Amino acid sequence: MLDGKTAVITGGTKGIGKAIARRYTEEGANVVVVGRSEQPGQETAAELGCRYIQCDVSEYDAVAAVVDQTVAEYGGLDVMVNNAGIGPTGALGELELADWYQLMSVNLDGVMHGSHAALPHLKDAQGAIINVASVLGLAGGPGSVAYATAKGAIVNFTRAMAYDYAAEGIRVNCLCPGVIETDMTDPIMGDDEFYDYVFHQTPMQRIGDPEEVAGPAAFLASDDASYVTGVNLPIDGGWTTH
Ligand code: NAD
Repeated sequence: MLDGKTAVITGGTKGIGKAIARRYTEEGANVVVVGRSEQPGQETAAELGCRYIQCDVSEYDAVAAVVDQTVAEYGGLDVMVNNAGIGPTGALGELELADWYQLMSVNLDGVMHGSHAALPHLKDAQGAIINVASVLGLAGGPGSVAYATAKGAIVNFTRAMAYDYAAEGIRVNCLCPGVIETDMTDPIMGDDEFYDYVFHQTPMQRIGDPEEVAGPAAFLASDDASYVTGVNLPIDGGWTTH
């Protein structure tokens, strides 16, 4: 249970982040969801009974302001979930350089921004960071060079940060989902070739639901995971078994 804990969830207005926000609120946490768009953010906040703050995670000052506001309102911060991200952008030859820099600033810098801003408060709370990478942080995949590079960096960011802050009581872990049904994957679901690829890659022969990521996210935020740090947990129906 997460009774009395306060969590910030970036990209918490839809998809995986929203499922995590729902689970955390159900388990008794105070939840602040962060996203770029006001209307879906306010709708999510009303639906889940949580707080919404607009912020682009690629801007450090904005992320730091979210953390400060959360601490001012709830008296501390126990869990920082760095989930916000944008999807794969193609093979290197198809990429505009601007696409690369944009993806890195959201998917990778965004994780660092959330972690950096939360750090002093997590020390006070003996809290936890949960990053969201991907199976594409553990292996390559088609048309995903920038995405896989950022996600691979998050995997090692998690290990390095876990090492540095273990003695200070901060746990840092990471979720590595396979293909999960959200708006991010919606455009490729109709693509037969991609669907065949996913079925071939996934021994369970199905895609995942956002709720199947929310359960492990709740565990890693809870006191049940008090001796768990530096883990990059595949949630992938077996994708990374072969
Ligand atoms: P989604 O598109 O449904 O939701 C993404 C969320 O991130 C939204 O709330 C969006 O507003 C937010 N966001 C995007 N850019 C932002 C920015 N600059 N600042 C603040 N918020 C921003 O996607 P999803 O599938 O729920 O993905 C969530 C995370 O899970 C991402 O990091 C993604 O890479 C990762 N992931 C998804 C899958 C999948 O198959 N869906 C698989 C592995 C990993």
